[in-house]
Amino acid sequence: MTTINAENIVVRVDRKTILNDVSLTVAPREWITIVGPNGAGKSTLLSVLAGLLTGAGQVCLDGREVSSMSPRERALLAAYVPQHPEVPPGMSVQNYVLIGRTPHLSLLGVEGGDDFEVVERVMDQLDLSHLAHRTLDSLSGGELQRCHLARAIAQQTSVVFFDEPTTALDLGHQQQVLELVSGLQESQELTVVMTMHDLSLASQYSDRVFLLGEGKIVAHGRPKDVLDSERLSSLYGARIAVLEVDGHTVVVPDKE
Ligand code: ADP
Ligand code: MG
Repeated sequence: MTTINAENIVVRVDRKTILNDVSLTVAPREWITIVGPNGAGKSTLLSVLAGLLTGAGQVCLDGREVSSMSPRERALLAAYVPQHPEVPPGMSVQNYVLIGRTPHLSLLGVEGGDDFEVVERVMDQLDLSHLAHRTLDSLSGGELQRCHLARAIAQQTSVVFFDEPTTALDLGHQQQVLELVSGLQESQELTVVMTMHDLSLASQYSDRVFLLGEGKIVAHGRPKDVLDSERLSSLYGARIAVLEVDGHTVVVPDKE
């Protein structure tokens, strides 16, 4: 059984084709990362997979068509953090992370002890406990990004869709977030779908990468098979070197 099965996705806006016949499957507990140049269609693909944007074609999550699910059913199965999430003004960090518990609440909508426990644990894991009572609008970009991830992780779903979750973070917090997700992938059998610009990090953490160019999948597979310097240089229109360092694939721009 596959966790995600997308077939022949086509998205057109006005006359422009943004996704052009994209098909992919993701296995349970797999971590895939969608990479590619700006404007390739990564965010659009992620929102189609998460069921928040509908194009032509079909997306199934856990064997059910995502467009037929209610928002609550979807929220119990998958959490999504967009590239530019909306920030409710004046809300505290703790209350924001608590929103992640919404799909789990009873009809009365009252949080219980378990919900607060989850929120406290996730805030601790993401280094947010000392900010619990600060308002979101007072945070730095990196702190705010960790709040969005905390809200999604507190949702305790079996699938997460994260759009560039590490872009606003310093190296330490990038590693912290990716290690946390990696830990959840192991311990809670989490299926992870993310987009990322850092190809070296994508290579370290992902089981497979999907390289997207102009709305099409150009290559997919194990990171070291996909991240080829010629292929990347041509797709990104840049000189890109792919190195092997201590068994890791490292992708760097190559100065002339
Ligand atoms: P990426 O995340 O890879 O940078 P996006 O999925 O955000 O790419 O966008 C892919 C292309 O589709 C871009 O050229 C973008 O300008 C265009 N696009 C995305 N959403 C819309 C929209 N709502 N209306 C018009 N063009 C859009
Ligand atoms: Mg994007």
